[in-house]
Amino acid sequence: MTHLIESIQRESEEGAEDYVAPIDSEGRMRVFIADDSAMSRHLLEATIKKWGYEAVTATDGEQAWDMLQKNDAPRLAILDWMMPGFSGPEVCRMLRAKNREPYTYVLLLTSRDQKEDLIEGMDSGADDYLSKPFDQQELNVRLRAGRRIVELQDELLRVREALRLQATHDSLTGLKNRGMIFDRLCTELTRSKREQTPCGIVILDIDRFKLINDAEGHAAGDAVLRELARRFRENIRPYDAVGRYGGEEFLVLLPGCDLTNTVNQAERLRRLIADKPILHNGVTLCVTASFGATCYAPSMTPEQLVQIADEALYRAKNGGRNRVEAQAPGIVLPESMIQTAF
Ligand SMILES: [Mg+2]
Repeated sequence: MTHLIESIQRESEEGAEDYVAPIDSEGRMRVFIADDSAMSRHLLEATIKKWGYEAVTATDGEQAWDMLQKNDAPRLAILDWMMPGFSGPEVCRMLRAKNREPYTYVLLLTSRDQKEDLIEGMDSGADDYLSKPFDQQELNVRLRAGRRIVELQDELLRVREALRLQATHDSLTGLKNRGMIFDRLCTELTRSKREQTPCGIVILDIDRFKLINDAEGHAAGDAVLRELARRFRENIRPYDAVGRYGGEEFLVLLPGCDLTNTVNQAERLRRLIADKPILHNGVTLCVTASFGATCYAPSMTPEQLVQIADEALYRAKNGGRNRVEAQAPGIVLPESMIQTAF
């Protein structure tokens, strides 16, 4: 589970929005209160604090809108209907138009009690409403209903994220799996094409991995894979990517690196493995890997580039292992031209 959590952290470092739990470390849920009346605001604040909620307040509609758009905004909001700047329903409508996740549960607070007003308020996307002056017990019950929805959605988001990670990451190492790293390769190559920037591609294969499994057991083999994954993670740049491409094979993407830089980076990774043996249950395992490096070329498909890196890797294996071999991508003629050429 630890490596999956590390993956979640890493994914969020890679640009996903930071996850903010709806409940603080002391189990209190934060509730957003927007009301232009200081008396009403203070009364609401004092009341909900009594029930163990933490209050975050705004004094008008504009401030409410600014604060609710923040990443760490409370998920449960009580919005007064009539406020300067934006009204409660206006804030709610803008919030729903953004359609962002996680969901903000909105309770509209209104002194209006005519039915048509209510319909307008609920039409703006509010989840519930409360008439002013509010009844304490009614507020309590409605906040509890909101809290249940927020917690339920939080749980759903966590499960969905866990499933997404399971589907895209290797469960042993926590690295991207084959499908995911290949997708990333396609994305990086598209970027290289658009921005006319280089991109390094490295395939590495642990040398004589079968011997480790046979001599020390599969647990030792697993420990080696996990340790190498850890070393890779800690030693690549934030915008690089590494994935487990096969059993003991890894694919590393180095955006911005031409072939020379790619070879230098591959050499650095090679030393990172070879220079420090792995200790497993008191046994010292001397592990090395062979590397094949190439780089982006506009005429090449992702599959062709992987193939070229693979060919370089085979040369590294045949040349004695524990080394880096590079191959510049050549020009591949379209199939139609090949047919006429021969
Ligand atoms: Mg008001």
